[in-house]
Amino acid sequence: MRRVHRELARSQVGPPVIIDCHGHYTTTPSAHLEFREAQLARLADPGLPEPSPAEIGDAQIRESIETNQLRLLRERGADVTLFSPRAAGMEHHVRDEATARAWATACNDLIHRVVGLFPEHFVGVCQLPQAPGVPIERSVEELERCVEDLGFVGCNLNPDPSGGHWTSPPLTDESWFPLYEKMVDLGVPAMIHTSASVNPSFHGTGAHYLNADTTIFMQLVEGDLFGRFPDLRLVIPHGGGAVPYHWGRYRGLAERLGRPPLHDHVMSNVFFDTCVYHQAGIDLLFDVVEVENILFGSEMVGAVRGIDPETGFHFDDTKRYVDALGLSPQDAHRIFEANARRVYPRLDAVLSGRGR
Ligand SMILES: [Zn+2]
Repeated sequence: MRRVHRELARSQVGPPVIIDCHGHYTTTPSAHLEFREAQLARLADPGLPEPSPAEIGDAQIRESIETNQLRLLRERGADVTLFSPRAAGMEHHVRDEATARAWATACNDLIHRVVGLFPEHFVGVCQLPQAPGVPIERSVEELERCVEDLGFVGCNLNPDPSGGHWTSPPLTDESWFPLYEKMVDLGVPAMIHTSASVNPSFHGTGAHYLNADTTIFMQLVEGDLFGRFPDLRLVIPHGGGAVPYHWGRYRGLAERLGRPPLHDHVMSNVFFDTCVYHQAGIDLLFDVVEVENILFGSEMVGAVRGIDPETGFHFDDTKRYVDALGLSPQDAHRIFEANARRVYPRLDAVLSGRGR
């Protein structure tokens, strides 16, 4: 135990910081959504004037955060959230590049406002201006703006801008490489995150998100993306979709496809979060996946925000499940803080700059 405490002391600059790697601004003031509606109305009727992003006062932003994400963060005992625009609201399926660009800019600027108002609690992660058929290099400029000008530490990358029809090549295809080159250059990871489903066969948060998590992992097993980009880091959210449950299948497939073991082939660069909304799921995740590859996340305020009648606690209060694992102090430190600082080095720099 004494040895553990010495190691903790070495790896911590200040008191522990509990980092939630997965939060969205799902509670934006209504004027922001009205801007989106005006954008879509203009696409339907080009005779309409081009709308401008909403003018939203600091007080409105404060209220929308203090009564929601910040309240829950405090109640549940976390300190910092990696905060990005509402995922379903990215609506990358809308086939107009200029609209996607104006929307991503407005959404990211709003995240920047939140971070400016609550710098102790929120750090920005950006939405990319993706659209079906638009090359990913057209998203590089916005990534650069968000990281270099706004201080963001990562991005959300949508592997399926079509919204459930999967018309893009796999993420291992070289058409995606311009984004990876810029990510490596800037030192930022991407969370793989689809947006709304426009395919009625796939419920957005219940099927489409989890399908994508599972699908991308298999693409990474089939390809050799990290042979090409050894410094690229991807976070697969929602506990890695179905992957941990089917770990044996992926190990077996890697062998059958002549790929190296998953540990060497994929897991030096891929991380799963803890957005799994029941104890048995978290138990399984930790049984199967190495502690080094798991980041604490809750995705709140998100898709499953109700109270579980079986436990009396919110489904998305994921810290409770991790706490119940009885991890060693070292492992808890990794899950809640050290892994996130390693995967998001710009977050580490932000926190270190504040003596945390
Ligand atoms: Zn999410």
